[in-house]
Formats: sequence, structure tokens, C-alpha cells
Amino acid sequence: DVDSAAARRAYELDRKHVFHSWSAQDLLDPMVISAAEGSYVWDGEGTRYLDFSSQLVNTNIGHQHPAVVAAIAAQAAKLCTIAPSYANEARSEAARLIAERTPGELNKIFFTNGGADANEHAVRMARLHTGRKKVLSAYRSYHGGTHLAVNITGDPRRWASDTASTGTVHFFPPYLYRTAFHSTTEAEESQRALEHLEQLIVFEGAATIAALILETIPGSAGIYVPPAGYLQGVRELCTKYGIMFIADEVMAGFGRTGKWFAVEHFDVVPDLLTFAKGVNSGYVPLGGVAISPEIAATFGTKPYPGGLTYSGHPLATAAAVATINTMEREGVVDHAAFLGNDIIGPALADFAIRHKSVGEVRGKGVFWAIELVKDRETREPLAPYGASSPEMNQLIAACKSRGLIPFANFNRIHVVPPCNISVEELKAGLAILDEVLDIADGFAA
Ligand code: PMP
Repeated sequence: DVDSAAARRAYELDRKHVFHSWSAQDLLDPMVISAAEGSYVWDGEGTRYLDFSSQLVNTNIGHQHPAVVAAIAAQAAKLCTIAPSYANEARSEAARLIAERTPGELNKIFFTNGGADANEHAVRMARLHTGRKKVLSAYRSYHGGTHLAVNITGDPRRWASDTASTGTVHFFPPYLYRTAFHSTTEAEESQRALEHLEQLIVFEGAATIAALILETIPGSAGIYVPPAGYLQGVRELCTKYGIMFIADEVMAGFGRTGKWFAVEHFDVVPDLLTFAKGVNSGYVPLGGVAISPEIAATFGTKPYPGGLTYSGHPLATAAAVATINTMEREGVVDHAAFLGNDIIGPALADFAIRHKSVGEVRGKGVFWAIELVKDRETREPLAPYGASSPEMNQLIAACKSRGLIPFANFNRIHVVPPCNISVEELKAGLAILDEVLDIADGFAA
């Protein structure tokens, strides 16, 4: 029941009045999405597409899940707004459900509007707790679009707005396929990346460093699963030098990797863990920081100087309660793990054998990247780092014309459908990607 006249009007008004993120405004031609359900969305003409891009908003339980839609409606009928200094049922219950799932004793939850402000507040808490200022963050990361969050970001989106005024120092995380350390094995890469990090800490002066922020599995920058031992090593270095370890789980959290939080794969507990998106399947803006008892205690009698009007908004937290309960009831986290182990992992390993444009595949759960190259020998990327390319644009168009909305970035196509996608839907999407990789092979030597 798509109204194509309304969709055309939406397109015209968008072009006239809407200013888009990260874009040259006049070069845009945005698809109008008029409706969605489960793993599918419909454009303004009523054409259906499989959503293989859901890592962006972390639509983890799919579009328009009736349990969440009903919970939002029920909360709207009961209580829509309240100053954050009052307690309310939705926020208290959401905080409990989140605290019960975060690792270790990260049991206090500070709610924000999204991921960037969660990271801003985590850094502020670390600075006030330690009395130090600098922040270490990794290249090939994304932490948000606000002032500090974009500065600590380590992907090219930082370049235009980096004022270098926030005390950020970047380090190289492990990435064996394009190693910065001349490593030949994962073990070597992990160890050398840790040695590099420790040197950086020593040369910067440990006593000047408040926090180290790291996406547990970096997402929009390319889905890099850290090698064994790396995150434990980071945890040990942070403990050794009194640095607060902030795990950014805005993209990897809430089931996407086949665990509630990705840190569980690596058996580490950060001092602060930030989340957003998947906490309520992206239905209403919400993010937050899960805080260790030690850091929470710093603000036991001394006020925390920070806050947001909508901290834990009732509609957003009601959606979180419904999302988390639905994920438990429907076994969504285990399903995501199963899809990664039994369907996506093997399918992508097969692509890597059959398609000469595939340089590397990597991921966990429903969080996978296919890295495309022009030449497997030289590993020359299909598109340059930090830029779009006609070849990638052609592959994106080929996905769309086959009824699939991809998540694509530079030289990568990600496989990131909703966590509750069915096996049949997933296989249909992978078959489309298989065809599109045939086109990619035409660009490769
Ligand atoms: N951290 C990570 C890992 C993210 O992927 C994102 C969003 N893509 C953010 C932070 C920023 O979140 P938001 O856009 O909600 O501010």
C-alpha cells in the first residue's frame, strides 16, 4: 500500500529542504523508503528490497516488529515526556535489562540520545575520574559526528572537521591483511600492535592519558575482528597505566556479533561501555554509557557535570525494554551466532575462493565485510581509502537493481542484515551478492 504520489512529493521536498549528512548536497539522489517490514523495505514505487544494510541503524529485530511498535504506542498513550531528574518506569526497567547484560559490574547506565554523545560522556567521565586529559583512539574507527566524537574517530570522516584540539592521539589497531607492522601471522600482528600501543603510551606520558577508546569490533570502518589476545592486552595496558578503557559497542552491541556485547567474545571487561542503535533496534533515538562502580563512585557525592534533556526518554526506553525482551523471547542473539557460523561464514569463504575480486572476508554473527581488490597479489583496493569510485557505485547500483540494499564503504561490501533474518531471506541476499561479485571480478586483474 505504497502511495507513489506521496513518495514523489517526499522526494521533491527532500531535495528542496533536507540537508543530508556526509554528502555533497547537489550530487544526491536519495531513494524514498515508504514502508518496511521484517527484513524488507519498499521504495516509493512499491518495489521491495532486502535490507542488507542494517548495521547502520542496527535494526536488529527487523523493521516494524509488532512487539516494539505496540510498546511505543502503549508508552505514548501513558507518558511521553518527563524531565530526566524524575524516575520513570520505562527508563528504570531499560536500565535494569541493560545492566544485567553488560559484562562485569557495569551496572550504572547513563542514557544519551545516540552513540556520539554516549562517547562524549564516556570520555568526560574518564577525564573527571582520572584527572587526565588525552584520549587514545584507533585508526579505522568511527565514534560519532559531534565535536569530540569526530576527533577521536579514526576514519576519513574525521579529516574535514578535525580541529586537533581535543587531546586525541591515534594508534594503529591490528589488521593483518594490510599490516602496519610487517607481520605475517595473527599472533605476530597482535603482539606488535600491543608493543606499538605501549610505546605510544610511554612516549605520550601515561599520566596525561585519561582514556583509550576502541570499537570492540570496528564496524563502519571495515569490520575488523581483533586477533586473539589483543583486547586482553589492551585491557592489561590500560590497567597498568591507569587509563580508562572505553569499549564502543554502538554498532557491535546488542546481538549483532552473536553475543549481547562483542567484548564477551574476548573475555574482557572495559571501564566504560557505550551503546546506542541496537538497544532498541533503532526505533527511537537512544544511546548510553554503562559505568563501572569505581567511576560511578567518583560521582557519588560530587555532581556529574553533564546531562541531556532527553536522557532515557520514555518512548525510547520503552522501545528498548520491548526490544530486549523480544530478543530474549525469540532467541535472536543465538540466531545471529548461528547465521554467522553456519551460513554467512561458509558462504563468504566460498566467495573468497571463487571470486578474484575478493581480497579478504571477515566477521562474526551478522557482522561481516567483503574487502574488494583490483589485484589479489598486490592487494590494491577496488576503491581508494576515503573515496568513492565508479566501480563501487556500479556494484551498489547492481545490488539495488536486484532488490538488495547493501552497506558499502570504499572497497567493502558488508553482509549486515537484521539479526533475526530468516535463513531463506539470508540465502537469497547472498545469491544476489554472488552475482554482483561476478561484476566486481570484471574490475580485477
Ligand atoms: N560509534 C560507533 C561504533 C558507530 O558506528 C556510530 C554510528 N555509526 C557512532 C558511534 C555514532 O552514533 P550516533 O550516530 O548515534 O551518534
